[in-house]
Amino acid sequence: MKIHRYVLFIFFNYSVNVWANSDSIWVLINNSTSLEQAEHYLSLARYFIERDNDSAIYYAGKSLYFAKYNNNAYLESRSYLCIAEAYQHQFKLKESVEYYWKAIEIAEKINDKSALGSAHNGLGIVYFYLDDMIKAEHYIKKAAELKLEAKEYTYYSIILTNLAAFYFNKQQYKQAIQILKSTERVLTRNKQEKYLASLYNSLGANYQMLDRKLDSAHYYYVKSLNIALEYEIPNNIISAYYNLSDLNIIRKNYLKAIEYLKKAEKVSLETGNEKYTLVIYSTLSRVYDSIADYKNAYTYKNLQYELSNKLFTRDKQKAIEELDIKYQTAKKEKEIQQHKEQAQMIMLQKEKEKSNFIIILFFIIILLLFAVFIAYYFWQRKNANQLLEKEKSKLFENIVHEIRTPLTLIHGPLQLIKKEISTNSQLNEHIHLIENNSDKLLKLVNELLDASKLQKGKYQLAFQNGDIKLFIEDIIINFEKEAQQKNIKLHFSATDNNKFYSYPANAVEKIVFNLISNAIKYSPPDTSVLIHLALSDNLMTLSVKDNGQGIPQREQQFIFDRFYRLKIHQDIPGTGIGLSLVKELLELVKGNITLESYLNKGTLFTVQIPVQKIAFVDEEIVIDELKPCLLIVEDDKDIIHLVSSIFKTDYNIIYARDGRDGILKINKYLPDIILTDIMMPVKNGIELLQDVKSNELTNHIPIVVFSAKSSLESRLEGLKHGADAYLPKPFHPDEMRLVIQNLIKTIKRNQEEFQKNIRSEKSFIERIRSSNEYVNKVIEFVIKNIDDANYSVNELASDMCISRSQLHRKLTGLTGFSATNFIKMIRLEKSKDLLKSNWGNVTEIAYACGFNSQSYFTKCFTEYYGESPSNYL
Ligand code: ADP
Repeated sequence: MKIHRYVLFIFFNYSVNVWANSDSIWVLINNSTSLEQAEHYLSLARYFIERDNDSAIYYAGKSLYFAKYNNNAYLESRSYLCIAEAYQHQFKLKESVEYYWKAIEIAEKINDKSALGSAHNGLGIVYFYLDDMIKAEHYIKKAAELKLEAKEYTYYSIILTNLAAFYFNKQQYKQAIQILKSTERVLTRNKQEKYLASLYNSLGANYQMLDRKLDSAHYYYVKSLNIALEYEIPNNIISAYYNLSDLNIIRKNYLKAIEYLKKAEKVSLETGNEKYTLVIYSTLSRVYDSIADYKNAYTYKNLQYELSNKLFTRDKQKAIEELDIKYQTAKKEKEIQQHKEQAQMIMLQKEKEKSNFIIILFFIIILLLFAVFIAYYFWQRKNANQLLEKEKSKLFENIVHEIRTPLTLIHGPLQLIKKEISTNSQLNEHIHLIENNSDKLLKLVNELLDASKLQKGKYQLAFQNGDIKLFIEDIIINFEKEAQQKNIKLHFSATDNNKFYSYPANAVEKIVFNLISNAIKYSPPDTSVLIHLALSDNLMTLSVKDNGQGIPQREQQFIFDRFYRLKIHQDIPGTGIGLSLVKELLELVKGNITLESYLNKGTLFTVQIPVQKIAFVDEEIVIDELKPCLLIVEDDKDIIHLVSSIFKTDYNIIYARDGRDGILKINKYLPDIILTDIMMPVKNGIELLQDVKSNELTNHIPIVVFSAKSSLESRLEGLKHGADAYLPKPFHPDEMRLVIQNLIKTIKRNQEEFQKNIRSEKSFIERIRSSNEYVNKVIEFVIKNIDDANYSVNELASDMCISRSQLHRKLTGLTGFSATNFIKMIRLEKSKDLLKSNWGNVTEIAYACGFNSQSYFTKCFTEYYGESPSNYL
């Protein structure tokens, strides 16, 4: 009778590392954080997986809870795997598949190759149980691939054992043996003996089928059985017994075969593995039949029949279940695929966004770099321009200076030439032309220099104290001739309050000069120019109004720009600098300018300049001690202007309007020289002369009289009353300068003579005596109080019945000594005589001469004589 053989296999789905002792896990669980708890529960579940599947499912559920709570995908997928495996052990394949897929879903998210490999292996085994070998092989191969990628070589080998089963099914025994042999090596090397049970069973089966190598088969079945018994692997024990029985059947050793089958039956019934039991019943029935034990054969046939019926119903259910599982699997596979595609799309999207971001960033950086480059370029250019501008203006200023020097040198000799050829009227005209043009050129050059200084902020304002009205009148005088030539009437009016102000004289002069000059220049002949000055305590308002062509409305905004000239005036010579200079000067003095102009009616410029009213102008006259002081008594502005233009640089100049004003100022300032006109209102020059010469305080002051009365008579009259010089009007500036210089020389000479006398070897009294009686009076007072250290200038001035400053000016004028030094000089001269005559010791002499300490005396003496008093002794 032909015996149908049925070789049994066992598949692995165990995890390789399993906790040995559940008690130790409990200890750990009780003392852990929630994440550690998840790990420990999972270990517990794995511990139970081969002992009590329900407990395994329970603990894996707990582990799953904590894994989810901690968002730990790694533990979550492993918890699902454990549950799936436990269900698989219970043959609850539907649930098992469901959990395998859950595990795959989570593992995919974190690309956990190890978990994915285990899940696929699990699925492969499920399909094996469902007899779908194609799918089973597909999943097992995939599982092997994943485990290899995860570098879990032991697990990989175990799966290969499963794979070998598929080759066996396809009767490719040699290939199967090859895989199994190499797997055996890996497992032995890694001391995973437990898994060798199934491997040897499989090897035995392959040898059995390959050329009926029954001894080899027997050898491996026995090895498998021993390991399975040692590790209590029920399915493996059944397989080994069954396969050993099969060998005995082949060898017709039926009793031995029955013995193995009975052992297999026992384990199979204990574990409730009905599928195996059914095969065992069938084989037992056949073997009993073979040995003609029909009773037993019948019994087992019956048992087989009953179980088969039972399983048939179950099979039907299983088929339905199978369909369900297949449907679920397909669905899950699709979902997983969709997830993968979605994840890939999201990844692509993110990558696209990232690359977009990089491109935008790149452009922003390029733009920024470009902006930086442009800014740098402009900064550099600005710097270069500034440097160039600076160099240009330096060069410009140098050139202008160079032009100005020869111009002034032309101007001087021109005056001399003019003087020489005053009779030749034709030449005079040429000279006048030259003079006019050189004046114009000089003015232009000066304007250019001013403009350059203003631009560089180097323009210095020169403040002056005085009568602004007179100052403006002086400026207007300059235009009289020009106005006359065009028959333009110049009208000047002012709110005459006779007040004195501090004002920026150089700026005011240039502003007013330009405005008036323009008004005359751009007005037609036979018109008039009105100049009005209004003064308040801190503001001067000057308006210049003409009846000229006017300035077109649209051009009004440009005329203060440098070099701008009206189109209608292109034929009139000009530079377009004047008004821009006016505007810049006004900015400097914090003033302002307004313009009102109507075509063919005229133009009105109004400037406002801050000034400062001065309460007592006389007190404010600052006398420079290094320069001689000149008092001009004159009511004619031209003469005042002329005289001050001649002397203003080398002398302190004080003005007086008439004789009376003159006397007041002479007494107050005791000037070095007086210049006075004879014809004056209130008090004339002769009266002034008499007053001055008859006053012992003032009689030392030289007086120059000038008068239009050039007759000998009037000259004599002047000289008779003590005038030191006489100048007929019109006088020449040089003549005037020489006369004054000579008088100053005489004053100096007198001073030197006094000082020379002091240095002589004469006695004290003779030495200090002056030719001037007033000085001798002063000396007398000092000698009288010579031992009084407190006798100073104040006491002396009051003894002389004059002010301190009068005393000072008088003594300086006559002796060259200041009042303080004069007193000190007399004390020291006296001390010298006392020392010489051995009148006493140094201290005694010091006190006798009004020094309140010997050291102060020694200091003064040494400074004055160049040696100390003791040395002198
Ligand atoms: P300049 O007189 O040298 O040309 P300014 O800067 O002083 O330069 O004046 C600029 C321009 O303004 C002049 O060229 C002239 O066209 C115009 N202007 C100035 N003042 C008057 C005025 N009073 N009436 C008419 N036009 C004037």
